[in-house]
Amino acid sequence: MKVLITGGAGFIGSHLSDELLAAGNEVTVLDDLSTGRFENIAHLEKNKSFQFIEGTILNEMLVDKLVERCDVIFHLAAAVGVELVVKKPLESLVTNIKGSEIVLDMAHRYRKKILITSTSEIYGKNKNGPLKEDDDRILGSPLKVRWGYSTAKAVDEMLAYIYWKEKKVPTIIVRLFNTVGPRQTGAYGMVIPRFVNQAIKNEDITVYGTGKQSRCFLHVKDVVGTLIKLMANKDAVGNVFNIGSQEEITIEDLAKKVISFTKSKSKIVYIPYEKAYEEGFEDMQRRVPDTTKVKNFTGFKPTIDLDGIIKSVVEYYRK
Ligand code: UDP
Repeated sequence: MKVLITGGAGFIGSHLSDELLAAGNEVTVLDDLSTGRFENIAHLEKNKSFQFIEGTILNEMLVDKLVERCDVIFHLAAAVGVELVVKKPLESLVTNIKGSEIVLDMAHRYRKKILITSTSEIYGKNKNGPLKEDDDRILGSPLKVRWGYSTAKAVDEMLAYIYWKEKKVPTIIVRLFNTVGPRQTGAYGMVIPRFVNQAIKNEDITVYGTGKQSRCFLHVKDVVGTLIKLMANKDAVGNVFNIGSQEEITIEDLAKKVISFTKSKSKIVYIPYEKAYEEGFEDMQRRVPDTTKVKNFTGFKPTIDLDGIIKSVVEYYRK
């Protein structure tokens, strides 16, 4: 198949490109290299089935041309990372709302199957767990820029869903919970690459808040394999799926684990949220996915546990 991946030079998109090429597909990546990096896909440059186009999803004419030529679309391009979204709220909102609107509009124009990646941020402050796809969203004031990302992604989801309901454009929505692995950068806030880099350099490990908040981390390989299975599954169309691990850990324990794995001399320091992000920042205390649905559709089962994930990131940054 001819596959278009928006955001294909990013952390997840580049792993998806690797897997799709290995399976014999042709891959075109559209990426503006804002948070994506050329190094992530440099190894694919010589592959005849691979094409990289540097450009933005906000360029309607370009997106039109690329969507017309492809068979299916994985839409991953987005402004991501809590830190980035808090620092550049306007740019993030425009990319995440207008950009997705353009990509979905073209999928409609040429009637192409499209999988869009959403986020566990959708659930906001709902700290029940495990969270099911139809659980409530609990958000703070829209004047807190932190909620802009969640809101923009919810708009994307509604657009994708309604394009399916009203126009029968084959859309699939995937909500990614914390995803980790080689090539992920800590520059936009992501906790594991940050802790690993701090530990390798024997610098202080910066735990935000009390460190009692918890997360579940899934290896990127398990994520991209599942995205490909969902795209190939006819029954997945018109549905939304959580993808994530259920192996829960507090951020404080994560810091300790990273220190022990790297045999680092680093110390843990606790940084208040208002210093780490912005005044009045609200963090999610817990985020555990219910993955029954994706399991029923694809047989989803994580193959790499948290220890394996941390090891793969340590190995990547040591290299
Ligand atoms: N975090 C932290 N130190 C850091 C970066 C993040 O303690 O240097 C915390 C963050 O406040 C959150 C958790 O780690 O509670 C996960 O953050 P990340 O940005 O990786 O993902 P999120 O789940 O917030 O989208």
